[in-house]
Amino acid sequence: MQLTDRYGRVATDLRVSLTDRCNLRCSYCMPEEGLDWLQKETLLTDDEVVRLIRIGVELLGITEVRFTGGEPLLRRGLADIVRRTAALQPRPETSLTTNALGLARTAATLAQAGLDRVNVSLDTIRRDTFREITLRDRLDDVLEGLAAAKAAGLGPVKVNAVLLRGVNDDQAGELLGWCLAHGYDLRFIEQMPLDAQHGWDRDAMVTAEEILAALQTRYTLTPAREPRGSAPAELWAVDGGPATVGVIASVTRPFCGDCDRVRLTADGQVRNCLFARDESDLRSAMRDGADDQEIADRWVIAMRGKLPGHGIDDPTFLQPDRPMSAIGG
Ligand code: SAM
Ligand code: SF4
Repeated sequence: MQLTDRYGRVATDLRVSLTDRCNLRCSYCMPEEGLDWLQKETLLTDDEVVRLIRIGVELLGITEVRFTGGEPLLRRGLADIVRRTAALQPRPETSLTTNALGLARTAATLAQAGLDRVNVSLDTIRRDTFREITLRDRLDDVLEGLAAAKAAGLGPVKVNAVLLRGVNDDQAGELLGWCLAHGYDLRFIEQMPLDAQHGWDRDAMVTAEEILAALQTRYTLTPAREPRGSAPAELWAVDGGPATVGVIASVTRPFCGDCDRVRLTADGQVRNCLFARDESDLRSAMRDGADDQEIADRWVIAMRGKLPGHGIDDPTFLQPDRPMSAIGG
């Protein structure tokens, strides 16, 4: 069985949110006071998470598993979940999207557990701007985390950055220069309407076109040869390569037609899209005693309802009820 939708797309990339909590407060994601966190009893246990991943891998053709959140490093059982995921057959690729707080301590353990790669979110290398965006003075911890990830072999280490107008949109070239110097692959992501505060403003959003124009004042960018395929980043060779920079134009150049993703929330709901308005409750099915095949069947049905696109630019667009931090970015 495969996770195929009505438009012929096949989901093979599973994003697993391990918690909705976070120790930063990035303004495009979460309000200063935090959110009403998911109740403990609704969260999947480690065994339940691993069971659903196993069903995805063994019965439904999942080949890549990315752990995210909230901040996945806050999940106590993370290393064990990674280890059990990497032991599945056929072995899925495993990766982590993280803000890197605490990664300096855990990178080696995670690599030993079978983690293949990390993506670290970092929007600036200036301490004051970091504090302004995240409301925490933790830039040094992130930089240490990045270095530890590289040293542990969790590469190629990718850096994800969101640019905010009037805050860090003048720092695109600086961040790229820093990533090139440290051997990290930088990708800029257009800001999406997924913040809990509903503060997203299409007109204020820094577009991919603007990001590229800003980078081109410092670097020569040429399209990198590999086709984009289902990878959302458009890649550009920097000054002739081999280094590249990516731009993920989720809003202005959506890649929904090539999407191969499916998401599992920390409370066991399958979402066929970041922007889906429906979820499928695998947790209740599991706790009511469903066997693996029944859960797989529900999952397959959940994928059938996947819409052709996210419709952000459609006047009838409605932001999903859950913010990014509770879906798993
Ligand atoms: N806490 C981890 C982190 O920050 O990497 C994992 C979860 S976070 C929700 C995953 C990614 O989503 C991060 O790279 C973050 O920059 C991105 N993100 C969060 N809110 C966003 C938004 N409104 N638009 C675009 N990207 C967003
Ligand atoms: Fe936390 Fe990641 Fe959201 Fe920032 S983007 S508040 S690090 S979950």
